[in-house]
Amino acid sequence: MKVSELGEFGLIEHLAKIAYQTQGKETTPGQQLIIGIGDDAAVWHGDARVELATADSFIQDVHFSLGTASWNELGWKALAASLSDIAAMGGVPKYALVSLSLPGDTEVEDVTDLYRGMIQVGQQFGVAIVGGDTSNAPLVIINTTVLGSTKGRDMHILTRSAAKPGDKVAVTGYLGAAAAGLEMLTKHLIFDPEDGASLERAFLHPEPRIAEGQLLLEQGVKTAIDISDGLVSDLSHILKASRVSAQIVIDRVPIHPAVKANFGDKAVELALSGGEDYELLFTASAEVTRQVITKASCPVTVIGNIIADKIGKITLIDREGKPFRPTKTGWEHFATS
Ligand SMILES: [Mg+2]
Repeated sequence: MKVSELGEFGLIEHLAKIAYQTQGKETTPGQQLIIGIGDDAAVWHGDARVELATADSFIQDVHFSLGTASWNELGWKALAASLSDIAAMGGVPKYALVSLSLPGDTEVEDVTDLYRGMIQVGQQFGVAIVGGDTSNAPLVIINTTVLGSTKGRDMHILTRSAAKPGDKVAVTGYLGAAAAGLEMLTKHLIFDPEDGASLERAFLHPEPRIAEGQLLLEQGVKTAIDISDGLVSDLSHILKASRVSAQIVIDRVPIHPAVKANFGDKAVELALSGGEDYELLFTASAEVTRQVITKASCPVTVIGNIIADKIGKITLIDREGKPFRPTKTGWEHFATS
């Protein structure tokens, strides 16, 4: 059946039923939902903590193409990206609002898969979809809004603006795999099946670092961002907001092993500027960073230092401290930006 045959109200009713069947009335102890999907607005009991909110748009042929991801993966990824923003603040995500714009000839089965992908990532990270909207549009547009709160009752959150000279710069997990996965899928590259599967998973099924964001806060980290646009680009957001500069040791950047194995010289570039890895980039004192490394359940790697220099400047150096000389053109701006 097509979306146009079901009509807007029919589709909302259909999606509400899926949400209700899968999520039930209350999915985690943190949620105190009074009214979910089906009224004019969602209603819940607040819990007197500091609240967080974030919104994202995911537009066909701008942020995704229907050929590279299944509908289910698309749903997973769209909501995971918003959850990652809550992770970057050290917050606890709780509720999501999802607005879908769809062409009338979209199959209801496809929308159902998309919605299920969102519900799956939501359930894994304790988030209930409590409302949203559907409308007719020439393209698929997925708008997600995620609401959450801080874990404790105080004001503790991670921000982009607290990096200080002397801080270490560190990242969770490995980098470059999502961008490599996109390249593999669009160019139909064939790799060793295990490598291929992990690159595809990184691109289509990213896992927001919710627990890690909270761990950073607990350990006394104050500055973090999630890597959605690429390491260099997201680090520069921290540097500008904190009015500092950074030195990054190229050899220390944790390039994903499947990227290293299959992309040759391009691997470094994918790790530095390929986006959508949704890892966390943070800065903290050497001691706090050491604590995080010991307690985190994923790899955490120190890749450089915050220094007092021109605001926003990122210097790429090699192990000996010499300026990194990229072998390809198009890299110069990294060394001077
Ligand atoms: Mg972000």
